[in-house]
Amino acid sequence: MNNITNKWKKFVQFITFVNLPIKKKFLLFGLGTFFWFTLIGIVAVSVLTFINFRYSQISNTTIPYMQAIQKISPKLDVLEQLSKMSDNYKDKEKQLLEASLYIRSMNDAISQTTINIQSAQKGGNFIQMLTYSLAKDDPEGMKTLQDITTKIKEMGNIATSNDTKSNINAVWNELNRQIKDTKKIIETFSKRTNQMYEDYTLQMNKAIKISVNSIAIIVLIAIFLLWFFTKWLTDAFFKPIESMIHQIHSIGTGEVDLSKKLKIKSEDEIGTLSKEFNKLVDTVYGVTVFKKVIEEDTSLDVVYTRLGEVFERDAKIENYRIYDVDEAKGTMKVVHPPLFGDESLACHEEILNNCSLCRAQKTGHTISSLEYEGICRQFIPEEGKEHICIPLIIAGKPGAVVQFTFDTKKTDEEVEEIHEKVFKAESYIKNSLSVIETKQLMHTLRESSLIDGLTGLYNRRFLQDHSNQLIAGVLRRQKQISLLMCDMDFFKQVNDTYGHDAGDSLLKETSAIFRKSIRESDIVIRFGGEEFLILLVDTEPEYGFQVAEKIRKKVEETKFKVTNTLLQKTISIGISEFPKDTDGFWKAIKFADVALYKAKESGRNKCVKFTAELWEEKDNF
Ligand code: GH3
Ligand code: MG
Ligand code: MG
Repeated sequence: MNNITNKWKKFVQFITFVNLPIKKKFLLFGLGTFFWFTLIGIVAVSVLTFINFRYSQISNTTIPYMQAIQKISPKLDVLEQLSKMSDNYKDKEKQLLEASLYIRSMNDAISQTTINIQSAQKGGNFIQMLTYSLAKDDPEGMKTLQDITTKIKEMGNIATSNDTKSNINAVWNELNRQIKDTKKIIETFSKRTNQMYEDYTLQMNKAIKISVNSIAIIVLIAIFLLWFFTKWLTDAFFKPIESMIHQIHSIGTGEVDLSKKLKIKSEDEIGTLSKEFNKLVDTVYGVTVFKKVIEEDTSLDVVYTRLGEVFERDAKIENYRIYDVDEAKGTMKVVHPPLFGDESLACHEEILNNCSLCRAQKTGHTISSLEYEGICRQFIPEEGKEHICIPLIIAGKPGAVVQFTFDTKKTDEEVEEIHEKVFKAESYIKNSLSVIETKQLMHTLRESSLIDGLTGLYNRRFLQDHSNQLIAGVLRRQKQISLLMCDMDFFKQVNDTYGHDAGDSLLKETSAIFRKSIRESDIVIRFGGEEFLILLVDTEPEYGFQVAEKIRKKVEETKFKVTNTLLQKTISIGISEFPKDTDGFWKAIKFADVALYKAKESGRNKCVKFTAELWEEKDNF
């Protein structure tokens, strides 16, 4: 059933020239109009020619025949009368003379007819000449006319022969016979001519009727077809254009109506235009919705992930990587999709530590190896692999870079396809810029509210915000955290002796010692004025004390440069273990503080590990 419908659809498309290019459609329309007008013309001209032909035959042959007969017939009657009139010789002679005059006038009449017919055949307008050249003569009519002429001539000969004097009666008899013969011929000829006249008139009437009917039918068909095709052509052009105007208006007002997509009825230029327009509307709609969604997303990571999703789903790009640029640190990192296992980057890894090596980041321009082979030295060259890197300009600087990689043989079609895909992806990128900018700003603001301005270490608020997350991870992994509460010994003296700025610089240097002494995954928090809390994540018991000792020694050994002198300071550290000492994280901090107090109390420059007894003793401190 479906097959039949399809075939029928194809047939209708074929006969209505739906899929022909517009130029050919108009050409065919013109040809169609020309055909129908020509057809009407041909019918009219052929019928008129036929009528003209028959009319010429009537006016130039039949009528002259009839006129000739009309002239001859009464004269023949007179001749017949003359022959019957008198037996007197003298009279007969006189009558013969009279008869020969009649005969001559008959002869004149008949030769005039012949001349008329012949001259008519030669002259006349183009159509008459044409019809005569096409039509056959009337040989039978001409022969009969000849016969009559011969008879009349014979009569003339008889009437004027020398025998008349010797045998006038015989002459008259002979003349009589000829008159009778001629009358007979004329009678038959006259009947035939009349018949011809009737036939021709009938034929002309019929031709007129047929032509009027056919022209009427042709005109009706032509008008119908002209109306149909004009309407169809107008609809085919104006309906999609009207819809496009509506859609463009909607896009202009920020509302995209997907239910009013253009219907694609043909494969001509209008069909292609509609298809491309629908694609555009889809993209605009997709991008608009996308923007609304990411605006409501909470984190920058989610925005990057969604950007990746639309690259895959809408732009049909599988291989891509989004890098976030940290301008302050001069680094960049992969944010989406994350690197798994032994997966490696398409670029040299140095770009991660020095983002200015990335050409797209450095220049702020799109970098495409399709435009210039080997354009970026950081891209690891591989046979058939091309890259297009787009910087995301945020607040006037490349805040992120999107890299697309393609396996391609670089044929024209493939390159065009790649550019189309990237164009689509770019429309999403452009629309996400403002959102990414806002989110990055929020991220920076948040980060800065969690970081201590003097030392660059996390502050106490960070701990409040992230402690739950930290605890959950450690408990899940069944590991522990060593908490090191550190406090500078007699720090007040530094301030008092060397000034507050000297104290500040000492705090900064101490912070650096902390950072260098621990792993990347450990956390240092400026807990109070010159009090620091170090969280050693996922450690074994005893490890905390070892690190604390290492730090204490390092501080002790360090010669801090204060104004013009070198200063040596010590530090006391209290250590507790979570969840070994207590399953309450904040309580573990308290325990570390208690241990610190013990260290201070027992002489400073010491590391003291928390024990249950210390807790009991604490009230005596
Ligand atoms: P100890 O801890 O050994 O008992 O003696 P201390 O002198 O270090 O005593 P305490 O820890 O009570 O004193 C803290 C001093 O640290 C008080 C204050 O002057 C100084 N301090 C706190 N925050 C800052 C800071 O941001 N900059 C500077 N320069 N000094 C600070
Ligand atoms: Mg102190
Ligand atoms: Mg203190």
